[in-house]
Amino acid sequence: MQSYEKLLERGMKKVPKASESGGRFQIPGARVLNQGMKTFIANFLEISQALRREPNHLMKFLLKELATSGEIRGKSAEFTGRFPQPLIEKKIEIYIKNHVLCQECGKPDTKLIRKDRLVFLKCEACGAKHPAKKI
Ligand SMILES: [Zn+2]
Repeated sequence: MQSYEKLLERGMKKVPKASESGGRFQIPGARVLNQGMKTFIANFLEISQALRREPNHLMKFLLKELATSGEIRGKSAEFTGRFPQPLIEKKIEIYIKNHVLCQECGKPDTKLIRKDRLVFLKCEACGAKHPAKKI
C-alpha cells in the first residue's frame, strides 16, 4: 500500500490517464536514445507487449505521427531523425488513448478486431465495441 503523501505526489506529477485504472495497467516508460540523426526506442517490444498490441501497429502509428521512416529491429525501434523522449512519450499516450483504452469504461482490456474491412476496438471488460481510429 502506498501512503497518502505518495499518492498525492504521484497525482501532482501528472500521471498519465492510462495508469488511473487501478494501477495494474503498467506501461514501461519509453527508453529513448538519440544517436546521430537517429532515434531509438530500446524497449519498443516491451511497450507494445504491455499494451497488448502488435508491434507493427504501434510502429505504424509512431511513424505517421512523427512523419518519418524507421523500422523495428529486434526488441527496439529505429527512427530517422532526432526526437526527444517527452515527444515519444506523448505520442505513445495518444496511441493508448485512441487505440487501447475503452471509450466506454476507460479500461485497457481491449483488443482490435477486424471485421470486413473495418477495425473495431472491443472491450473485454464492459463489452463495448467502437470503430477503431484509422492510422
Ligand atoms: Zn469497456
